[in-house]
Amino acid sequence: MVWKPSEKEEEYFARMEFERKKKLEEEKHRKLKEEDKKRLKELHYMRCAKCGMELIEIDYKGVKVDKCSECEGIWLDAGEFEVISKFEKTSLDKLFSVFKK
Ligand SMILES: [Zn+2]
Repeated sequence: MVWKPSEKEEEYFARMEFERKKKLEEEKHRKLKEEDKKRLKELHYMRCAKCGMELIEIDYKGVKVDKCSECEGIWLDAGEFEVISKFEKTSLDKLFSVFKK
């Protein structure tokens, strides 16, 4: 039989992985100069984190949802995922239908 982690174990492993990766990133950020941070922001602002193309922003129930114009990835700002997770299922379906072709 294949071992399948419980919900609690999944959460624990995900949290451990996030904390480990976050520490590595924070170390990198400390070594970056302010001018490099500014340059990176100018280069990447409102661009897809995966493919680099421009994001299309729509406002839905006070949440600014950014969708990639190329790869269809959806990006949210800090705190927006928490807001969207509290939406009713019908509101979520309507949000997804906005992007349907
Ligand atoms: Zn993309």
